[in-house]
Amino acid sequence: MSTEKKPLIIITGASSGIGLATARLFSAHGHALLLLARRLEKMQALDLPNTLALSVDVTDRAALAAAVQQGEARFGPADAIINNAGVMLLGEITRQDPEQWDRMLDVNVKGVLNGVHAVATGMVQRKRGSIINVSSVAGRKAFPNHVAYVGSKFAVHGLSENLREELSTHNVRVTTIAPGAVETELLGHTTDEDIKTGYQAWKADMGGKVLSADDVANAIHYAYAQPEGVCIREIVLAATRQQA
Ligand code: NDP
Repeated sequence: MSTEKKPLIIITGASSGIGLATARLFSAHGHALLLLARRLEKMQALDLPNTLALSVDVTDRAALAAAVQQGEARFGPADAIINNAGVMLLGEITRQDPEQWDRMLDVNVKGVLNGVHAVATGMVQRKRGSIINVSSVAGRKAFPNHVAYVGSKFAVHGLSENLREELSTHNVRVTTIAPGAVETELLGHTTDEDIKTGYQAWKADMGGKVLSADDVANAIHYAYAQPEGVCIREIVLAATRQQA
């Protein structure tokens, strides 16, 4: 598409799924990128121009802030951060290892706050910027075996709306993206095989046609690409055949 160099966009969880698709799309639109996830080689393999990929765990607040400083030193101030990194470890509440709750809350909630922390001061000073947080339809309603995941995503919805109100006076936009089921690696980290099989059956009930990562990337870019004075507060999107 464009060969013009556009401002820096930071994407967490850019090594697979939605984050990876979003990296490709923003790069095609000419943006410089800072890509963050733990698997560096997957981000480097994208081989995108004007892109710095760094291996960062979003639960490491200092490492995330340092990576943002490094990206901004190279490409100039971040115009947006897409806080997308997340894990979904489904489990039946009496059997699930509580360590899995810790991981989801650490990555899905504190990881998002760490991303906000790394950019908010600069955006407020510049009176410009977009913070786009990837939540889920599971941030709006319950699903079976989703207790801790739903809890983490309700938290993303809640903190994002509060953040939007607080940053609005500084001309900084905050957007929540809430997808339904998307075909990515996400389910693969759930350890309960029965729950995984049930989830696959649920997707098959939709004719196997859930959202693609590109569908979500398009929604993220749509929100970002609005005129500066327009804040898309939330986008909820799911496969047409997804009922819940
Ligand atoms: P994937 O599993 O394909 O991607 C998850 C990304 O998050 C990977 O790049 C992974 O990179 C990164 N990540 C996980 N843990 C960490 C960590 N501690 N530090 C840094 N990066 C991390 O799943 P999706 O693309 O589906 O997920 C993206 C977001 O979309 C998540 O927030 C998810 O909850 C949300 N979502 C997904 C839906 C779906 O059905 N797929 C539906 C609704 C919302 P690495 O392992 O290299 O660190």
